[in-house]
Amino acid sequence: MERFDVVVVGAGPSGSSAARYLSEKGLRVLLMERKKLPRFKLCGGALSGRFSKYLPQDFKSKVLNVIHKGYLGFRGDKHKLKEREEVAYIIDRADFDHFLAQKAMEKGCELREETELLDLWEEKGKIILDTTKGKVSCDFLIGADGFHSKVAKFLGFKKEKYYRSVEVLAEGEMDFNSVVIELGLVKRGYLWVFPKGNKLNIGVASTEKENLLEVLKDYIKRQKIVKVKKIYKPKSWFIPFAEGSEELHTGRGRILLVGDAGNFVDPLLGEGIYYGYLSGLLAGDAILENPQNPEKTYRKKVKELAKEFTYAGKIAKLAYRFQRVAYKMGGGTSLERYMEFLKGHTTYEEMYKKGWLDFIKNLILYPLKS
Ligand SMILES: Cc1cc2nc3c(=O)[nH]c(=O)nc-3n(C[C@H](O)[C@H](O)[C@H](O)COP(=O)(O)OP(=O)(O)OC[C@H]3O[C@@H](n4cnc5c(N)ncnc54)[C@H](O)[C@@H]3O)c2cc1C
Repeated sequence: MERFDVVVVGAGPSGSSAARYLSEKGLRVLLMERKKLPRFKLCGGALSGRFSKYLPQDFKSKVLNVIHKGYLGFRGDKHKLKEREEVAYIIDRADFDHFLAQKAMEKGCELREETELLDLWEEKGKIILDTTKGKVSCDFLIGADGFHSKVAKFLGFKKEKYYRSVEVLAEGEMDFNSVVIELGLVKRGYLWVFPKGNKLNIGVASTEKENLLEVLKDYIKRQKIVKVKKIYKPKSWFIPFAEGSEELHTGRGRILLVGDAGNFVDPLLGEGIYYGYLSGLLAGDAILENPQNPEKTYRKKVKELAKEFTYAGKIAKLAYRFQRVAYKMGGGTSLERYMEFLKGHTTYEEMYKKGWLDFIKNLILYPLKS
């Protein structure tokens, strides 16, 4: 049976980040992916500006749109954000994920495409994986296999908190260096319009059971902020999230979970590419530092991320419960603070602590219309 130091299941951003990091450190790594790359992944493809310092230097060759501006909408009203330097980037997930997998290969990792993990078990101190291309064994396993992670299921984890989402690609016109966030359309969540090259990506996500397709179609028909000429087939998927340490599924012993498999997604806006990528690096570090029990070290390393998710969760609870208030605050300092956050100049903790006094003031001003 073929033997590796580490097997990473899933070649999304989380898996490729762990595979690249560990290969660079000299471990023998197999990155296993059930699809052929480049593969489609439903996603807005927005990366916050603070991500750039972790990415390979030439990642900008993959950027379709640089974001300088934004709009926050609420049932026909809108706030326009001051134009500024780049705060975010839009990428195409098929292309970007392929690029990250290639970067892992450049560091020596073996990529095995069209290879699906079917089953796994532990035997004589090794982890054995049964795949559509035969069996392999390893000392460490990283589950980066997304929302329906088989590795997480093997460890007994279940998804508890997640957004349902529907997204559609459209042809039309908008300011291709801006993003639109709309509140007031779903109970707990939001709608977005992002550029994707010269096309539009329109999506909506909610944690509640709502008819998201209807919300999306109705919005496209009635809104006046962008011009939609043609829409392609809508698609739907899930976005897991964690609102604190205990909701992050880090794994067990020598089996670690990263990205969506471990719920490494921010509960306010559903940003998962950045956090998944970071979790891949932290999992890699934990394996190197504590090969006897990497999960114990990994759990400590993700504490800072968990704290961010706790505060993002607190903001989400208030903002989605009182969406009109959140919108009104967006016209003041909140959106400006959020832009600083995207660039990495502030944290969710600071935003929450600075913002909540304003929130109470606004709640008194707009109490009955939430
Ligand atoms: C509609 C929508 C919009 C979103 N927009 C954004 C956004 O704008 N910005 C942002 O940061 N995040 C966004 N997200 C979240 C983001 O897409 C995810 O958090 C991110 O893809 C997580 O990356 P990952 O590597 O953990 O998992 P994935 O990208 O899902 O990759 C998992 C990989 O594992 C493979 N796999 C699965 N099972 C197996 C198996 N058994 N064997 C082998 N391979 C397997 C899959 O084929 C896949 O390639 C969005 C999500 C959705 C649904």
